Amino acid sequence: MDNEVLKDIEIVCKECGKTFIHSVKDQKFYKQMGYENTPKSCIDCRRAKKAARASEFDSKKDFN
Ligand SMILES: [Zn+2]
Repeated sequence: MDNEVLKDIEIVCKECGKTFIHSVKDQKFYKQMGYENTPKSCIDCRRAKKAARASEFDSKKDFN
């Protein structure tokens, strides 16, 4: 069976506890990027983390 059938997976976000969908499209993308693992947190939390990190960096830069 080399033609593995992918399905949308429901994952509970470890950050906010909400259930989110790891879609077939995302799974393919992850595979393409070489990631073996499924995401642990939802897109919103991942985005928020990224934004928080980015703004922290920006504010440090601005305060100089
Ligand atoms: Zn979340």
